[in-house]
Amino acid sequence: MRFGLFLAVFLTFGTFIMACSTTPETGRQQLNLVSDDQMNQMGEEAYKQLLSESKISKNRELNEQVQAIGRRIAKASGIDYNWEFTVIDDPKTVNAFCLPGGKVGVYTGLIPIAENTAGLAAVIGHEVAHAVLRHSSERMSQEMVTQFGLAVASMSFGDSKYRDLIAGAMGIGAVYGITLPFSRYHEAEADQVGLEYMAKAGYDPQEAIALWYRMGEEGGSRPPEFLSTHPDPVKRAKDLQKKLPEALALYRTSPYKSGTQKFAVGH
Ligand SMILES: [Zn+2]
Repeated sequence: MRFGLFLAVFLTFGTFIMACSTTPETGRQQLNLVSDDQMNQMGEEAYKQLLSESKISKNRELNEQVQAIGRRIAKASGIDYNWEFTVIDDPKTVNAFCLPGGKVGVYTGLIPIAENTAGLAAVIGHEVAHAVLRHSSERMSQEMVTQFGLAVASMSFGDSKYRDLIAGAMGIGAVYGITLPFSRYHEAEADQVGLEYMAKAGYDPQEAIALWYRMGEEGGSRPPEFLSTHPDPVKRAKDLQKKLPEALALYRTSPYKSGTQKFAVGH
């Protein structure tokens, strides 16, 4: 009897049951095979590496604006991560990201299309929501299951092969979860929760809808990077429109009132 195999299958399914956790905000069940500590540590390492290979923006005004927006959005999320917000000087990259544990990067290429502080708050709200909802961990867990499942189905039940399989499943963490694009489901969820965060933080949620229409116009022959990994912007704008009354109510009762400031860089 291949006791090792039985044990592995048992442990695998046992882990799935134990690893189902509930997402904050939306309350749905998600698969979580990687601990928050592991995930956050991976996020921190990836962030350090990424920043060491990037040109950090020295634009003082822009840095202050991004820090102010970031701090308020992070506070609105109610999650006590060691949040960091960095502006990366790269006018050709229309993108922003958030790594596990609250490490956010905004590329200067995003600023003209964000157009104003509320537009940028919409993007940062979306990124912060990805981190709070532990999307990276869920995506990595799903990937581990896929890889593990495929390997179990195709392996010849030899002990040595089995050892490779475990090693492979464990090694996956370093690559997946940090680099893979999110699913459309995750994107939609981050949009909805991000809209809430920006409104709570005192940024006009109508600007999120305007931003996605601008993103849509930006498409065409050379779509911005942010669009190539994300769903159709016009559909996103329409989906957000449905949640707007709720978001406007949060905005009106927000303790912050700073209005919307246009960025110095024109669109
Ligand atoms: Zn996203």
